[in-house]
Amino acid sequence: MKNIGTATHVKSTIKKEEFHIKKKFGQNFLVDQNILRKIVTIPSLTDETLVIEIGPGMGSLTEHLLAKSKFVLAYEIDPDLIPILNETFKGQNISIQNKDFLKTNIDEDIEELNISYDNVVVVANLPYYITTPIIMKIIEESSKVKEMVLMMQLEVARRLTSKPSTKDYNSLSIAIQYKTFAEIALKVPRTVFIPAPNVDSAIVKLVVKDELEVCPDNQELFYKVVRGSFVQRRKTLVNNLLSSLNLPKTSVIEMLEDLGYNPQIRAESLSVNDFIRISDYLNK
Ligand code: SAM
Repeated sequence: MKNIGTATHVKSTIKKEEFHIKKKFGQNFLVDQNILRKIVTIPSLTDETLVIEIGPGMGSLTEHLLAKSKFVLAYEIDPDLIPILNETFKGQNISIQNKDFLKTNIDEDIEELNISYDNVVVVANLPYYITTPIIMKIIEESSKVKEMVLMMQLEVARRLTSKPSTKDYNSLSIAIQYKTFAEIALKVPRTVFIPAPNVDSAIVKLVVKDELEVCPDNQELFYKVVRGSFVQRRKTLVNNLLSSLNLPKTSVIEMLEDLGYNPQIRAESLSVNDFIRISDYLNK
């Protein structure tokens, strides 16, 4: 636990001497106004946008989001931050909810606000320990969120956005790129946070695909094949599928030949569409 007393930007209304940073909640507060100003230029924000912010912390990003949108729905798990946020944003277009984002029903919460909007965008400096579960939850559960602009560790950002046959490409790249267009929008040095994390960060912009370009016949099997294909990166696809899906070797080789792939191929060279073809074949 570390005191945030050194954050000179923090508003005078915040009793900063009373707040202690909690590592267990992944608290690394953004203290650089230049970065904050840049972040809010990345999402598609208008005065008709509903913004969802996960983990507003002391509200440094929230303040910029409120200035550029219609309404902010903010989820903060740390009860100690709620009075600070309530005081800072009193009377503004914001709903501050003391909840664990992973346990929320996003679309129900949006409906309960009972407001009109043109688009819903998630903008957050994420608690890094739950980056992947947060993104997967939004992708899988919300039909309203169409865009996400998220700060995360640079290493994770590279995985989400990497292309086949590159060193960072793995099952997470495929799970994310199956549902979204993902790109790194900005690299962010560790020095702009208090406390500074041990790694650099990046902002990733994810735009949800309107209609899936190609849809697997069986999504559950698709995810299983993707995960199973990367269990041991150095192994061939055949060997990974044999152990993860429990299939006879001859039938996996026959399938790859039928689909026109070299049986020596590794998962890292296959695209989202290749995995859809393989899972559809296995689904028959
Ligand atoms: N947005 C602030 C900023 O940029 O200075 C704080 C970002 S800090 C990296 C992550 C924030 O997420 C913290 O305020 C933390 O308490 C909150 N948080 C952590 N886990 C959470 C969860 N499961 N649901 C909601 N908020 C969470």
